[in-house]
This record gives sequence, structure tokens and C-alpha cells, in this order.
Amino acid sequence: MRRVCRLPPSEQIIGMNKNNALKNGLALVVFLNALSWNALAQEDLLLKDFEPVSIYNTPKTVVEKARYPVTDVHSHPYPVSPEEIESWVKTMDRANIEKTIILTYNTGKAFDSLSNLYSKYGDRFELWCGFDYTGYTDDGWGEKAVAELERCYRAGAKGVGELGDKGTGLYYSKPSVAKSMHIDDDRMKPLLKRCGELGMPVSIHVADPYWMYLPMDKHNDGLMNAYTWKIDTSKENLLLHQELLNTLENAVKEHPNTTFIACHLANCSHNLDILGSLLDRYPNLYTEIGARYAEIAPTPRRVKAFFEQYQDRLLYGTDMGMSSSMYQTTFRILESKDEHFYVREHFSYHWPLHGLDLGDEVLKKLYQENAKHIYD
Ligand SMILES: [Zn+2]
Repeated sequence: MRRVCRLPPSEQIIGMNKNNALKNGLALVVFLNALSWNALAQEDLLLKDFEPVSIYNTPKTVVEKARYPVTDVHSHPYPVSPEEIESWVKTMDRANIEKTIILTYNTGKAFDSLSNLYSKYGDRFELWCGFDYTGYTDDGWGEKAVAELERCYRAGAKGVGELGDKGTGLYYSKPSVAKSMHIDDDRMKPLLKRCGELGMPVSIHVADPYWMYLPMDKHNDGLMNAYTWKIDTSKENLLLHQELLNTLENAVKEHPNTTFIACHLANCSHNLDILGSLLDRYPNLYTEIGARYAEIAPTPRRVKAFFEQYQDRLLYGTDMGMSSSMYQTTFRILESKDEHFYVREHFSYHWPLHGLDLGDEVLKKLYQENAKHIYD
């Protein structure tokens, strides 16, 4: 048996004459060089450059349009011109998004001008305001902040958000942050109480995905993404993951007449039992799934069971821009049975994704019915 090297047939060294031998010899050198360069490149491949492509011949479902009408409860004022809003509305039409809630973070004139910009689209958009933390360390701040909340309410704000605390205090609202003041601070009580009286839900992001708190080493399961967003746990006075969830729990417990929406599954996609236990204890708490699709898709069976159990408390959100492919990706993950796929365009984890294959009743509630229950 004759052994041949794995060159393309035209370059195989079989039955060659003298001239061909020289020519093919050169080709072999080039080929071997290429081989060693490849080996080197593989050794030098950085984790951040790792972009696997699925080799599995499994269904690849394109879901252009959500199966049922949708209210997206987590978006932001991305468009910078009326033309961009027009185009967004067309994308929403194609995707079956009936309404988008825009969490503006804003108060004052900035809120008013956003409210004007979107007002011509009627029910397609709903705008939520922030809290004005300006002077939050001064006496009498609470009354002023409540007065501004009421003013925003009269100007059309239907809820408050997105508030945010990643450990150093409430920092998402504009124009100022509230360093070291957390959602369960006594100073926040008049505002949260008033939200309940006005029927304004409070949307709040606490903490971040769990692996961002863990050491950035070879064992970090979310490293590809966590490294970019890692939390500096050595920071003074920083509240950690569970401590932040405790602040949320305190506020939710203290204000049973105010509806709270924990953004991003309360950043508990690694351990949904934590979130489940909060939902069990506080009927005024809801949660939305925006920007946590890549975090739930690796464990489709656990997540599906959770979604079924808490189907009355879950809301659809995106928080990832306004492109058609973004919406389609969320629908594919929620609706399809697809297995082992990657969506590098939107997510940067190394792991493959899997569809949750949610049932019709759960989808209807998640997409819109629960939101209508809260907001209408
Ligand atoms: Zn957001």
C-alpha cells in the first residue's frame, strides 16, 4: 500500500518525473509551512477571539414575528431622529411588537422633550421617567423629588425606570446619581409610596450576572462576557450580589402597594431559586427577561420549568436595541426547539444556546397578558 500525504490531488507526490519532483517539492515546503503556521495560530488563539460555529445538523428556526402580540417592557430612547422612530415602528410591526415601554431614566425638560417626540405614536410607546436625585443628601429633598415625580406623571410618565444599583448606589436616573443611597434607604420611602398611589410601577436593575463577581480565572463560567463587565469587588462600600437583592427585597416588602419589576430576572439566571423565593413571598414583585436571553438559553429545561411555575409574574423585555434580528433572536430562544446554536451578533458568551419551546399559554402571558394586568 502506498501512503500519500494529504495534499490536494494536483500536489500529491505520486509517480512524478524530475521536473515535477522539484515543483512538487516546493509545493510541499509551502504546505508544511502553512501547517506549522496554523498550529502556531491555534496556540496563540485568545479566548476573546474564540467564535465556534455549530457543526450540528439540527433545525434552524427563523421566527420573524412573535406568535402572539407583544409588549416590550424594557427598551430605551435609542432613536436620535423622528425618521429612526418611524423605522423602529415598522420593525415593531413586522415583529408583532404592539407596544414598547421606553425607560428614559429622565426627569425635567429632558423627559418632557422625549415625551413630545414619541407622543404622535399614541399607544405604540409608553414613556417612564426616572427619579431626580439632585440634592438627595439635603433636607427636604424627598418632597422636591416627589413633586418632580408628580410633574412627570402629569406629563405622561406611566411608570418609573430604569432605576439601577450595581453596588455603589442608585445611579441610572438623570441628571444626577445617588451615590451610596440604595433602594431601601429611608429617603426613598416617600417616592416609592407615591409611585404606588399613582399606579406607577418601578422598574429596577439590581446587581449583575453572578459570574461577574467571581474570580476572573479559568473556572469562571461566564468569562467571555463577565470579563468585560467584571465587578471590582474590592471597591469600598460596594454591595455584593446577595446584598443588593436584599435591598430590593426590603423595598418590595416595605411597599406592598407599589409594583416592582426586577429587571433581567433580578440577575439570578444562575440560580432561579433565589428569584422564585422572592416571587413566592411578594405578590407586588414581577420580573422581566430583557438582555438575559444568552443567560437562560444554556439551561432550557430548568428555565422552561421556572417560566411555567411563575408564568403570571414574567414580562417580555429586550434592552438590546431595535433591530429585526434582535427581536427574531429573542423569539427563537423563547419559541423554538432549536439546539446548540450561537448568535455572535448579539451575545459574546462561548456557550451554545437552546430554544425553550415555551407553550402557548406561557407565551401569551409573557409576551403581553401580564404586562396588561400591571399597566392597564
Ligand atoms: Zn436597560
